[in-house]
Amino acid sequence: MRIDEIFYSIQGEGSRRGRPCAFVRLTGCPLRCVWCDTPHAFSGGEEMETEEIVRRLQAYPTRLVCVTGGEPLAQPAVYELLDRLLDDAWTVLLETSGALDVTEVPAAVHRIVDLKAPGSGESHRNRWSNLDDLRRHDEIKIVIADRDDYEWARRKIEEYHLTQRVETVLLSPVHGVLDPARLAEWILQDGLPVVLQLQEHRLLWPDRTRGV
Ligand code: SF4
Repeated sequence: MRIDEIFYSIQGEGSRRGRPCAFVRLTGCPLRCVWCDTPHAFSGGEEMETEEIVRRLQAYPTRLVCVTGGEPLAQPAVYELLDRLLDDAWTVLLETSGALDVTEVPAAVHRIVDLKAPGSGESHRNRWSNLDDLRRHDEIKIVIADRDDYEWARRKIEEYHLTQRVETVLLSPVHGVLDPARLAEWILQDGLPVVLQLQEHRLLWPDRTRGV
């Protein structure tokens, strides 16, 4: 499969943020979110076999791995990688755009599924049927660019009972666009049962776009 990068860093997203984590970022994504922070993963990369990827990951001092992109599910070979990592006793996180079918992902994988708010420009790509397949250990992430996105998220949380489907619904401000403190105030005012996500890797290494 085509790989953009493999690295070891602090997980900055989701309920495991702050933990040392190995990452494998697959090349390619069929979406074009206007605020995308990984456009370098749209093309290029290197063709690698599953065993080579696992060997690289095994060199890191962790058993937590995040399979991300791009859109990792856009490459069918990712399923072999997920199975191989589970067989090797990794705790496996999968970050996905929410635009592709997630129902074939092995049950032991922790899926972090985006819902694209209107400010992304890709809201029409949300695959709402995915929500029916989510388990409590999965997570839903909504990136918020402005107040309109926040209101959209609030409506969808209620309409689709999102906080009853999964333990963790994450709201994450677009880095450099929406002041995190404003989003925090909106969440507090509404008592919204979500987790504010600040992307620790960006706070730690603001000038780096790769390897974090
Ligand atoms: S789904 Fe992710 S990788 Fe794809 S364009 Fe959106 S933010 Fe970028």
